[in-house]
Amino acid sequence: MLLSLCVRFKRAEERLERTIGLPEIRFDVLSGGFAIIAEERSKRPSDFRSPEEVKELGEREPTCPFCPGNERETPPEVWADREGGDPDTPGWTVRVVPNKFPALQPRPIGAEEDKAWRIPQFPESPEGALYWQAPGVGYHEVVIESPSHSGSLGYYSTRQLKRILNAIRERCLVMYDSQDISYVQVFKNCGKVAGASLTHPHFQIIGLPVLPPTVVAEGQRLKDYEVKTRRCLVCDLLEREAEKDVRVITANDSFVVLAPFASRRAYETLIVPTEHVSGLSEMSEASVEDLAAIIRELFGAYEAMFPSLPYNMVFHSLPSATKAKRVWPYHAHIHVYPRLNTEAGLELGAGTYINPTAPEIATKEFQERMGSWEAT
Ligand SMILES: [Zn+2]
Ligand SMILES: [Zn+2]
Ligand SMILES: [Zn+2]
Repeated sequence: MLLSLCVRFKRAEERLERTIGLPEIRFDVLSGGFAIIAEERSKRPSDFRSPEEVKELGEREPTCPFCPGNERETPPEVWADREGGDPDTPGWTVRVVPNKFPALQPRPIGAEEDKAWRIPQFPESPEGALYWQAPGVGYHEVVIESPSHSGSLGYYSTRQLKRILNAIRERCLVMYDSQDISYVQVFKNCGKVAGASLTHPHFQIIGLPVLPPTVVAEGQRLKDYEVKTRRCLVCDLLEREAEKDVRVITANDSFVVLAPFASRRAYETLIVPTEHVSGLSEMSEASVEDLAAIIRELFGAYEAMFPSLPYNMVFHSLPSATKAKRVWPYHAHIHVYPRLNTEAGLELGAGTYINPTAPEIATKEFQERMGSWEAT
């Protein structure tokens, strides 16, 4: 399904479809969760103080294991884009290494038939699930985004971002080739409060032996929608959002960036391919280039609004239907969750988030940083 977008932004206040100031509970069709948009608690970007000090980072940090010259500090590289040099020496533009402290580890060579490494079938009966467990088999790799210690998604060239995406794509394909892997999670933790332990910019890729509940829940919602309507939930969402035109932040030939209707976090965004594809591996070279361009544009705006923004970026991407170990349809997307608000009792207890910045307001603020534009 191809969506032809013709989006023209007007800064018309009257197109906001809600009364600002009255809290609303909104339902998120993808996650099935709720968000409370409570604007009386509204904060403008300048009011948010990043919990981390904004400090100047240098291009190189002598003690950083991800900086060029310190390649021996990491496990040997499994993939690199190089302009020169031997493996595990400088000359790389993007470098992928196993995590030195992995959450999961690949099955050792020669242990293919070893029962100790076998992933048991998840039991059908609830009783059988009581003490279900599996060996911690999987992959945990780090994609070092660039040789620069101070790089960022809004700072790299589109070319560099494309290299990063290609690294991610290739490592995902390798992991999905493993009989042990059911799902590959690509994510980025940026900033201490978002869980990053090393400053040098990097993505992480974890190959899991199970399908995680977040992805299953989204997939099930897509399946239920398809059974009832014979259409894709995400394709329909994109069409409706293009018509409403109050939460579409930007778009290019292959991607749209939305501020989700039920954004659970302030300035949350969703990057969605306009073509109905289940994952990165199905995207053309041109689409990957468009993804690189839109990430650069979006994060340029984020970085202009919030210096040193802590955030998590989460890819929801599945392999093609023929390779997938799943039974539902999927439409790939990327969530960006800024960590400006603190998760507290309501969030932990009820899975319901209080968001002080309405996504319609966030959309306008992003657009002000991006300038006016027109896309067809
Ligand atoms: Zn570094
Ligand atoms: Zn779709
Ligand atoms: Zn998702």
